[in-house]
Amino acid sequence: MDLYEYQAKELFKANQVPTQEGAVVTSAEAAKLAAESFGGATVIKAQVKTGGRGKAGGVKLANDPAAAFTHAQNILGLDIKGHIVKKILVTPAEDIESEFYVSFLVDRSNRSFLCMASVAGGIDIEEVAAKTPEKLAKIQIDPLQGVSLELALAIAREAQIPEEIQDATAEVIMRLWDTFINSDATLVEVNPLVKTADNRVVALDGKVTLDENAFFRHPDFENYVDISNEDPLETAAKAKGLNYVKLDGSVGVIGNGAGLVMSTLDVVAYAGENFGGVKPANFLDIGGGASAQVMADGLEIILSDKDVKSVFVNVFGGITACDAVANGIVQAIEMLSSKENYQQKPIVVRLDGNNAKAGLEILRSANIKNIEIVETMDAAASKAAELAKWAK
Ligand code: GDP
Ligand code: MN
Repeated sequence: MDLYEYQAKELFKANQVPTQEGAVVTSAEAAKLAAESFGGATVIKAQVKTGGRGKAGGVKLANDPAAAFTHAQNILGLDIKGHIVKKILVTPAEDIESEFYVSFLVDRSNRSFLCMASVAGGIDIEEVAAKTPEKLAKIQIDPLQGVSLELALAIAREAQIPEEIQDATAEVIMRLWDTFINSDATLVEVNPLVKTADNRVVALDGKVTLDENAFFRHPDFENYVDISNEDPLETAAKAKGLNYVKLDGSVGVIGNGAGLVMSTLDVVAYAGENFGGVKPANFLDIGGGASAQVMADGLEIILSDKDVKSVFVNVFGGITACDAVANGIVQAIEMLSSKENYQQKPIVVRLDGNNAKAGLEILRSANIKNIEIVETMDAAASKAAELAKWAK
């Protein structure tokens, strides 16, 4: 998960990486107040999760609070590569003498970590790599050894950082490594790392990508989860612990096991070609248990998707037998139909595997009018696609 610059800088501060103070605001008025409180010149910076904000007009120097107001007004609402600016970071401006580049990342091809550093900062690192590769140092980091002061100094030298600030830069490099390791990040990038006129080394920009698989070690990172950019159905599904991804078709899909659901998506898309290009509306894996509650949660999410015209429940009974799943479906429909906002849509069910016969019997005798049982996966997918096509 990518962080905003201001969040990256919070992690920098926590790891003693020198960076400026800052205030995050959402209005021009608040930007002006922040500029007043900092005094002097400030930089008004769009907070979007994409690079090249400067070039897109999303980073502006403001000499006084009135200018901060004007810049903030222009930047708020700006579209930077499809990202609309809703938040702004106001920071005291630094007097920059030179701009460098430093990053740590996971280097998958070498099964290791990599540090990249360059005296040529403030521009795209891809450009440096292409045009002046001799200015880009690439140093593999042994995960067990980490970054000692000695290694950090060697990196600073190889990156051609001016001699008088090599020590200070090495110190920052070590702390950026700390940030990378302590946060379980897959990327920590500073572009530019600057030398100020008064010879300090400061991280002026920050990009951090966190490894969500390590979030269990960082309960405080929950705050970084940005639900404003997320699909509301995905947010609701996540809250219920469901493995759900919204897609753009009209056949809702529920299955047990990620592999089965993936192939169900393929089969639905294939069958849908006979009905004018009907496609799956989502991925939803209800996993092994398939209890009535999980089935009800899954159906509720899918049925509340206005794009869904029909639902395909595709279950292969294994450890959880089909009769248990069938009971889950029946109870789920009972639970949902007692809710006032229940949206009835055609549901095609295919059950196979362990205790399939008993499962089908349970569904048939429950006699739920919008449920249709189809015995093979291909025929069921075709039925669901057909129903989606003709639904209003
Ligand atoms: P990016 O374009 O998204 O990478 O945004 P940055 O935060 O890297 O800012 C872009 C450029 O704006 C930097 O490379 C600097 O040249 C300039 N800049 C940013 N902050 C300051 C500052 O405090 N003082 C000065 N003089 N320039 C700044
Ligand atoms: Mn930058």
